[in-house]
Amino acid sequence: MQGAQLHIVLVDNGRSQQLGRAAFRNSLKCIRCGACMNTCPVYRRSGGHSYHNAVAGPIGAILAPNLDMSKYSDLPFASTLCGSCSNVCPVKINIHEQLYEWRQELTRQGKVDFGKKMALKVMSSVLSNPGVYRSMGKMGRWALRNIPGMVNNSMNPWFKQREMPEAPQESFREWYLKNRK
Ligand code: SF4
Repeated sequence: MQGAQLHIVLVDNGRSQQLGRAAFRNSLKCIRCGACMNTCPVYRRSGGHSYHNAVAGPIGAILAPNLDMSKYSDLPFASTLCGSCSNVCPVKINIHEQLYEWRQELTRQGKVDFGKKMALKVMSSVLSNPGVYRSMGKMGRWALRNIPGMVNNSMNPWFKQREMPEAPQESFREWYLKNRK
């Protein structure tokens, strides 16, 4: 057609920046198949809205901090790092490794709040000491059974929309030691 014009609009939307971050550029291969979301134990229980971002799930958690580290600094921490997402990804994005990498980058950039840093320090000392871990587990199970209001209260955003499971009488380790043949 005479006089017709062809307009090509290229939407970068932070992709060049992600390309420049060697540890994260692999995430740009995503074809949005959704497999990582469907397999993710966190996504399957929390749902898409809890990611407060257009792209939810594990892939969203590594794409979003690239756009705004302050706004999305919580997302890479919402993962167990089980690696199921990387395992199912058809284009082989190392999602769980990038989640771990983002945690370190966000900490270096000062985007992780003091409360979370302290909580992780405490968690680290509990998890690296089996005796303390077992005692804390005992105390936690007792507290959940006898003073559930300590956790099930309006200060706990998780509890507002979910029922907390009943605490078991014993840990898996205690059960195993009793029942192994
Ligand atoms: S499984 Fe891989 S390709 Fe599919 S949405 Fe997740 S990151 Fe993207």
